[in-house]
Amino acid sequence: MDRLGTESAFEVLARARALERGGRSIVHLEIGEPDFATPEPVIAAAERAMRGGATHYTPAAGLPEVRAAIAEAASARGGRTVDPAEVVVVPGSKNILAFALLALVEPGDEVILPDPGYPIYRSLVDFIGAVARPIVLRERNDFRLDPEELAALVGPRTRLLILNAPHNPTGGTCTAADLDAVAELVCRHDLLVVSDEIYHRIVFAPQPAPLWSRPGLAERTVVLDGLSKTYAMCGWRLGYGVMPVELARRMETLLINTSACAAAFTQLAAVEALRSPEAEACVLAMVAEFRRRRDVLVTGLARLPGVRAHRPDASFYAFPNIEGTGWDGRRLADRLLQEAGVAVLAGEAFGRAGRGHLRLAYTVGVDQIEDALERIGAFLRTVPPEPAAPG
Ligand code: PLP
Repeated sequence: MDRLGTESAFEVLARARALERGGRSIVHLEIGEPDFATPEPVIAAAERAMRGGATHYTPAAGLPEVRAAIAEAASARGGRTVDPAEVVVVPGSKNILAFALLALVEPGDEVILPDPGYPIYRSLVDFIGAVARPIVLRERNDFRLDPEELAALVGPRTRLLILNAPHNPTGGTCTAADLDAVAELVCRHDLLVVSDEIYHRIVFAPQPAPLWSRPGLAERTVVLDGLSKTYAMCGWRLGYGVMPVELARRMETLLINTSACAAAFTQLAAVEALRSPEAEACVLAMVAEFRRRRDVLVTGLARLPGVRAHRPDASFYAFPNIEGTGWDGRRLADRLLQEAGVAVLAGEAFGRAGRGHLRLAYTVGVDQIEDALERIGAFLRTVPPEPAAPG
């Protein structure tokens, strides 16, 4: 258990809520959860499903019609026919990551993962006794993975690569050439991939075809996706994976041994989310609003003293560089919460390479973003920097 890590977003959220209970006003930029309401047709579908008796266990890998709807959406994206038997439905896509690592990786195997990166990757890799090999995503490379650096990390014990594009915490993406190079490398070294594509709909520029649409990749990729971010459905807990059929069967067994299945009415609501034009219109409206917020936030951050703000093409995170302020990330994040009432995360919560950055989730309205920018600006202009303690 000591090897398990955590997500500091949940910890900072708890501290921010405690301050609010004491009467403080806090702007929440810490948690990666869309603030929008779930699209109305999806709520109506869940209600219908519940009243219609969808309140029982379902087959562990998901209801057939739900797996079919996910396969249909994946086929349209990946340019090949995805069979419903390749789909596994889970209560939150995090489960796909945990199950893929349990099923595919042995203690001592090496797993390449992004740094900075979603902290649960490292946590689970450490937990199962595998060896994490971080691939650094650099600001000067728009936080894209460098295929040459990736190639240099592959060794005889390398088993699996975790790819996350669009990326949390930076909003970085991959070009078609990056994905071609990754595909070639993965095939040449006989690696497996977990491709975390949970942010693939929250994009502000055209994106290349997914990694697994390339020849030879479907056989070795577990695609991780879900409804949490795209449809503002984090609390519904509905994720899914697309993977080779034999692995899907094994994951079904893992599900039988753990949560049994995702909630039946949530699964049926997912069909509505994936197929209804009204839900699709809501997604487009949310993405347009995220884009507007990105522009306000990134433009405002770039005006703050000592802050350099990269403009991400996707997701709902900004990952500004704060080295020029003289502040250490953790100290700045702590003091901003305590003194300015702005909840943000320190970049190092996402790995060593995140040092010197903050992560801000633009999951609040433009008014609040402007308020946060004013508060951060006032703080930076008046409080002398507290650098990191030596060592
Ligand atoms: N992957 C990434 C990169 C994430 O940022 C998150 C949530 O923050 C998840 C996966 C998990 O999402 P969920 O379990 O809600 O489907």
